[in-house]
Amino acid sequence: MMKITDMSQLASYAANPEQSRGRKFPEPLPQGRNQFQRDRDRIIHSSAFRRLEYKTQVFVNHEGDLFRTRLTHSLEVAQIARAIARNLSLHEDLVEGIALAHDLGHTPFGHAGQDALNACMKNHGGFEHNLQSLRVVDYLEQRYADFDGLNLTFEMREGILKHCSVKNARLLGDVGERFLKKQQPSLEAQVANLADEIAYNNHDVDDGLRSGLITLAQIAEVQIFAEHLAQVRQKYPALEGRRLVHETVRRMINTQIVDVCTQSRLNIAEANAKNIDDVRKQFPLIAFSKKMQKQQLALKQFLRTKLYQHYRVNRMSAKANRIITELFTAFAGDIGLMPDEFQEYAANHQARAVADYIAGMTDRYAIREYQRLFSVSEREL
Ligand code: MG
Repeated sequence: MMKITDMSQLASYAANPEQSRGRKFPEPLPQGRNQFQRDRDRIIHSSAFRRLEYKTQVFVNHEGDLFRTRLTHSLEVAQIARAIARNLSLHEDLVEGIALAHDLGHTPFGHAGQDALNACMKNHGGFEHNLQSLRVVDYLEQRYADFDGLNLTFEMREGILKHCSVKNARLLGDVGERFLKKQQPSLEAQVANLADEIAYNNHDVDDGLRSGLITLAQIAEVQIFAEHLAQVRQKYPALEGRRLVHETVRRMINTQIVDVCTQSRLNIAEANAKNIDDVRKQFPLIAFSKKMQKQQLALKQFLRTKLYQHYRVNRMSAKANRIITELFTAFAGDIGLMPDEFQEYAANHQARAVADYIAGMTDRYAIREYQRLFSVSEREL
């Protein structure tokens, strides 16, 4: 059997590392690896990637060892994205890299942290975690002798930047262009994007049930869950508890992957996309069927009202907001409170340097910084 890495196995509309638009700082071609593999490897070796382990997805890291973190979320996105990419003969290394990097710019404490930092940055260009992921790989990682950042290929950077305002797009150069021209990124980027959605919807169901914040009876009202639950119950009438949940969730993930592959194949054929430039000029070709779109939406709405806005999640969000806002106020008021490496940049970009510092923190680092700055005990004095 031929390996997928063999270029003859790549579809003509896939991204091809041999035809990459290249890197900002030209480098010799890697030996024994393709360009997207090198990108993926650089992402895994970055310090921002290691910090994902201690950043909140929905549940704060210390709430329990079994909940998803940004790291395990990113790994699940990569797994789902690769399954779809292989099925559609797209470039697996590219989708994997995008999936692993897509949340590198996330703040501590999940969306509550991002919203708080965005509010703090209101008069300084705002804060958006997706844009921050690009900033991490373009500037903030400092590991290489010849350049700041990871110097990734255009295709990897294009995929990491999922959305972007017109105002920011103008400042971004090459990867911003498509937002001005209203074009699409590669199919690999589109796959990583949908895989993110499949991953979080399903694992949030799983984590939500595990936490007890939502119940099986509640979620059984949601059509996509109900359909798969019925399949499991028919096959295993006595099954209960965690196994029942997992058997249901794994079926939902599978159905969604098959749905995306089937619908996307139809879309690609209909659009007559022959190469990556055809893909860029089309509407998004990687998509769910109409039926699945509806079901996904219903699931998302359920999760929003019953899980993300649960009072216990709200309490954690309120705490996160307070920590982030007070850290920002303290550092922006006196950049001398930040570690040396952030002070240099802060001399000319005060607010942005503070946002970079805070966004890079893990949950527990942010909590400790908060305690170090604001708690007064005799022992510490
Ligand atoms: Mg994500």
